[in-house]
Amino acid sequence: MKIDILTIFPDFFRGPLDFGIVRRARETGLVEVNIHDLRAFTKDKHRTVDDRPFGGGEGMVLKPEPIFECLESFGVASRDERLAGDAKQSVILLSAQGRTLNQALGAELSGLDRMVLICGRYEGVDERVSEHLADREVSIGDYVLSGGELGAAVILDTVTRLIPGAVGNEASTRQESFTAHAELAGDGPSSTCVSGGLLDYPHYTRPADFRGMTVPEVLVNGNHDEIRRWRRKTALAKTARNRPDLLERIALTDDDKKLLAQIKGES
Ligand code: SAM
Repeated sequence: MKIDILTIFPDFFRGPLDFGIVRRARETGLVEVNIHDLRAFTKDKHRTVDDRPFGGGEGMVLKPEPIFECLESFGVASRDERLAGDAKQSVILLSAQGRTLNQALGAELSGLDRMVLICGRYEGVDERVSEHLADREVSIGDYVLSGGELGAAVILDTVTRLIPGAVGNEASTRQESFTAHAELAGDGPSSTCVSGGLLDYPHYTRPADFRGMTVPEVLVNGNHDEIRRWRRKTALAKTARNRPDLLERIALTDDDKKLLAQIKGES
């Protein structure tokens, strides 16, 4: 996948691009990331990217010209083609007002051939970018950041690790928190390798006894049916405790309902 990031702070991405899965995906050619400095698309000697808002009010607004010209410099499919789904491309404006990123949207974006991320700053971006250039606005959560760069890094990471081949053991992305069956082709509802929309179950590693804090017995006794059941139960317990809203959105099996009743009885 080609990923283009438009920003006034290109150096911001040195860290996010250079570690772990994203770095490996770049090195193996699974993703090609290009960072574009919006100031290179200004025409005045101060390299001005912002201006005061029409109508008055606080702060400055990112001007449309550098953003339009930057995008035009590398050429993507037209907005109409992108909106019609004729091109596996998307131009995304990072915005607190956008659709909230979640694992399902990450999975959808991981199927693209090209993803462009436009990072706003100041009070935001001239609205014509959203109206005529981007095909969607994405938020990474209900809070306001100083700029879109952190959001772009979050999308970059979420999407890259969902591209087949990016994570060494592909099954590990299938059993993670929030991963529903529908998002993963080939996993039937009976698969034990999908979180089914629950939070992930707890993980432990060696030593089995660390300062008197011991690993649950069931995980060391080697009975795989018991381990599977324990994992499902602890995933349900953690979801009920930390994110009860998720339980309302997923189809619980009769066994899940029994386990939840047990969990309630134990607390
Ligand atoms: N005035 C805007 C508002 O109230 O919605 C906030 C602008 S914010 C200070 C500057 C830039 O940060 C935005 O243009 C956007 O690119 C980015 N940004 C802020 N919060 C974000 C979020 N939750 N998700 C994604 N991008 C965000």
